[in-house]
Amino acid sequence: MEKDLRIQELEKQLIENQKTISGLQDVSKDLEIENATLKNKVYSFKELIYSSPSMITLLRGKDLIIEIANRPILDFWQKDENIIGKSLLEAHPDIKEQGLEQLLLEVMDSGEARYGYELPVYITRKNQKELSYFNFVYQPQKNIAGKLSGVAVMAQEVTPKAIFHKKIEESEYKYRELIHSSNSLIAILKGEDMIVEIANDAIKKVWGKGSDVEGKPLFEVLPEMVEQGMPAIFKNVLDSGKAYSAQEKLINHLQDDEMRPGYFDFIYQPQKNIRGEIDGVAVIANDVTNQGLLNQKIKESEKELRDLVNFMPLKVCMTNAKGVPVFYNNSWRNYTGKSIEELLSKSWMSLIHPDNREKVEMVARKSLETGSDIDLEFKIFDANGQAKWHLNRATAIRNEEGEITSWITSSTEIQKLKDEENRKEGFLKLVSHELKTPVTSIKGYVQLLLTMLPEANQENGELPVKPYLNRIETQVERLIRLISEMLDLSRIEHNEMELKKEKFSLNHHVEEIIEDISYSNKEVQIELKHHCECDVIADKDRIGQVIINFITNALKYSPEDNRVEVTVYNKTENEVAVSVKDFGIGIEKKEINKIFKRFYRVSGNRDETYAGFGIGLYLSNEIVKRHNGKIVVNSEFGIGSEFIFVLPLN
Ligand code: ADP
Repeated sequence: MEKDLRIQELEKQLIENQKTISGLQDVSKDLEIENATLKNKVYSFKELIYSSPSMITLLRGKDLIIEIANRPILDFWQKDENIIGKSLLEAHPDIKEQGLEQLLLEVMDSGEARYGYELPVYITRKNQKELSYFNFVYQPQKNIAGKLSGVAVMAQEVTPKAIFHKKIEESEYKYRELIHSSNSLIAILKGEDMIVEIANDAIKKVWGKGSDVEGKPLFEVLPEMVEQGMPAIFKNVLDSGKAYSAQEKLINHLQDDEMRPGYFDFIYQPQKNIRGEIDGVAVIANDVTNQGLLNQKIKESEKELRDLVNFMPLKVCMTNAKGVPVFYNNSWRNYTGKSIEELLSKSWMSLIHPDNREKVEMVARKSLETGSDIDLEFKIFDANGQAKWHLNRATAIRNEEGEITSWITSSTEIQKLKDEENRKEGFLKLVSHELKTPVTSIKGYVQLLLTMLPEANQENGELPVKPYLNRIETQVERLIRLISEMLDLSRIEHNEMELKKEKFSLNHHVEEIIEDISYSNKEVQIELKHHCECDVIADKDRIGQVIINFITNALKYSPEDNRVEVTVYNKTENEVAVSVKDFGIGIEKKEINKIFKRFYRVSGNRDETYAGFGIGLYLSNEIVKRHNGKIVVNSEFGIGSEFIFVLPLN
């Protein structure tokens, strides 16, 4: 019984155990299925890793033991699968010194992933360090127990792309550097609203609106530009794509509540984007305020000067270096009755009386060639077509290099003076004519008396008449000479002086004249030297007049030294010269050219000491000129003078 009970119990137990076994068999089946699924998952996970073009590795523990490494990363390390199970430092020793080992350990410690974008990494390839760039993720890994135990590294080499980006960055940097370091004022404005994209310090300073202007519309930063018409200019550059430039343009900037004027040379240059569309404007400007203000001042003072010149009663004209008028003042307009434009468009020769044109043209041509001043009298037509005498002067204006840049001419009307002179001349001519006959007959009678009187009548106690008669004769001769000079003067004026040319010996002629003069001036010493013997064909009397004029002047202007040296010599092979040298008062340099003018006498209080009319040299000069000769004067004030006339030999 007991046995049966035991059997029963065992059977029951067996059934129970069988149930447990079949239950366990079910569990094992499930586990098998689960295991297969897991294996599948691991396989696909590995597949994913091994087929990825990215470099992937799984590192475990502080030693960074390589647990998984796919082909791309093995290739990058230049290692094979044997590296698995070894430390990363063995596969890729470069990481240590570049701080990447540290970074990996940090990720493992902190559990926080790290990302890198185009990170520069030096790697050794073929024994050479090369800079490469990587995008990467360092992802912390936990074990089954949820403890941080490793790092998954996923990386991609992006060197070409990164180099390209770096280059763009660099050129952008350089471009900005260039703009910012430039002395020119530069700003780049974008879009219709002219948003300030870049503005360098130089332009910000001029704008005077602080440094934080980038990103703002230009006319919000510079509202004062609006009323100065700038928006339209910018819009036009944007719409037309054509640059706008200006020189020394006045632009006012509002600085510290004050409008400050500035002058700028600038260009507004349209800017294109990568697609070739105009999307902005570059402003490139130079601050030329100092120069602008100076030019403004020059313009103002030029205007003042012009006004001054215009109000002058003198007729003033300015010509270019070639003598073409570029400016006439108002006096010219008033006198000629022509507008300034009309005057400028016409030849100035047409204003001059035809009688004077040839002379004026000759003198002007010579001055334009040599740069010498002009001082000439000629007649100019007025608004009624009447020609009036003017004294005309022209002076060259030169630059620092001494080149002629222009000519200034001034013309003063001297018609009244001329009329006066004519009246005087007419009177003198009349008087001379009237005097000539009586004076000549006085001379005749004096000479007659002289021949009739015995030589030494005073010895008999009679009156000494003869010396007085001699004096009368000298004075009458002086008077006759004066009268003939006066008549010559009017002959020259009316071009009526005729030369009676004949052949004669100049040496003899000079000798005779000196004898005559010495005869009536016993106290003088005239020394004559002949360095040549010359016959000339000339008007003997007129040449005699010149010699007499030179010698009498030499005596007259030598009050303290009565020596005079006369020399006849050959100036050149074809020229003979007569020099008359004295040791008298001399002539100042500035006077030398003037003494040949009609009625000109060196001024000073010497009129009483040296009597004269100032026509002797004028006549001498005219006579010599008519013989195609010339007069030369060498003189030193206070020392003496030498007057030389030169005649051509043929
Ligand atoms: P005049 O002697 O009648 O004044 P001229 O025409 O002969 O007139 O001379 C003009 C001027 O030239 C004189 O007034 C004098 O000042 C100056 N002059 C001429 N000859 C001499 C000379 N030999 N020495 C100094 N001055 C002279």
